[in-house]
Amino acid sequence: MHLDSTHAAGQPIPAASFDTSRRLIEDAKRRIPGGVSSNFRMGIAPTPLVFERAEGPFLFDADGNRLVDYYLGMGPMILGHSPEPVRRAVARQLEDGILWGGQSRLEASVAERFCEMVPCAEKLRFAASGSEVVQAALRLARAATSRRTIVKFEGHYHGWLDSVLVSVSATAETAGDPGVLSRLPGSVGQDEGAWANTEVLRWNDLVSLERRLATRDVAAVIMEPAMCNAGSIRALAGYLQGVREACSRHGTVLIFDEVITGFRVAPGGVQQLEGVTPDLATFGKCLGNGLPIAAVAGRAELMDLFATGGVVHGGTYNASPLCLAAADATLRALQDGRVLDEVGERGQRLMQGIEAALGQAGVTASVTGFGQIFHVAFGLSEPARDYRDLMRMDRPRYVRFCEALLSRRVRVLERGAWFLSAAHQDEALEVTLRAVREAVREV
Ligand code: PMP
Repeated sequence: MHLDSTHAAGQPIPAASFDTSRRLIEDAKRRIPGGVSSNFRMGIAPTPLVFERAEGPFLFDADGNRLVDYYLGMGPMILGHSPEPVRRAVARQLEDGILWGGQSRLEASVAERFCEMVPCAEKLRFAASGSEVVQAALRLARAATSRRTIVKFEGHYHGWLDSVLVSVSATAETAGDPGVLSRLPGSVGQDEGAWANTEVLRWNDLVSLERRLATRDVAAVIMEPAMCNAGSIRALAGYLQGVREACSRHGTVLIFDEVITGFRVAPGGVQQLEGVTPDLATFGKCLGNGLPIAAVAGRAELMDLFATGGVVHGGTYNASPLCLAAADATLRALQDGRVLDEVGERGQRLMQGIEAALGQAGVTASVTGFGQIFHVAFGLSEPARDYRDLMRMDRPRYVRFCEALLSRRVRVLERGAWFLSAAHQDEALEVTLRAVREAVREV
């Protein structure tokens, strides 16, 4: 029997136990470093969890808890866990084959729909993960410009590979002066040569970017067009337009990394919402509602360098029919925008509910972002504008809040992000807000 988070009104929610998960993780450490297959799943309080099943907005863990899930697999499950149309499409495809090492009609038709939805997409290539399509986009930009330098922004995450894992999680001690940002590798063992040409600037600051681009030696500017790995921060009015204009003027390729925002904040991503079209954009996560599929898309002239410009892009799993079946079902569900609008409206309601609960408890916090992905920052009375502002958050207290929520069977990311899906209906939101009101009293 599963223990869920709905309980008699008036009674405090009984605390969940995670002892089985804790034991299984300890066991798994014998064969799997840290007991997990991604560093971003380590060090989560009170223990990384072990799951058995997922459905709709819920995860079911090894201890028999039913958790309302705001991780959503780190973002991909925009239609919720195990949605019927995706399940059906994947099951049907399984009958016909998993991987062909060749093309499929589905590949062309998903590409067609993708290009209808995403403003910058004249052409695209499929791949299996966000990290790889970022590398593909950077390679295209360097090939197109014959320049080496890449500009990225403090706190923006573009995958775990050497060239871009730079200044992703700086702290007040390591970040350096706001005028002269430190360039910080994100990992031990990172090849210095691989990020020697990666420079870091402050996001939402057009003046510093224009100054840097003026020497006309920057191949690409890459950014999360709404900053969602840290915070959920929209660009200041006019910033993206200014970046677009400066890149065009100085011959720099503009890359929007929409791995989180794509097929989540709008059918065509932030570029559609803000009306600013990059040269290239990267997608992953929501594209396959949990199956590993990603894409780099953009101007035909750039994308064709893969075919005729000597730019190599490969991958055994690229455009696997199984993943395309999931992408086809997902994009069909999202294309007309209604589903994402509804997710957004419910998300806004949840944001307001959380804000009210925190306010009533006297906790200073800023709740910002989109209904479909928002961010709760303890200790900030004003919305953050960039990573520097987020460095002032009260992280220890937020982590305690997450733990208090988890013990009430609501699972949220310790970095402050909340992902919503079409399956997060009113019941899940009510259960969540009740847990929030209790948890905030505890911290
Ligand atoms: N870019 C962004 C903006 C991301 O959020 C992520 C993953 N969180 C990546 C790239 C890397 O994607 P993946 O984990 O699929 O390699």
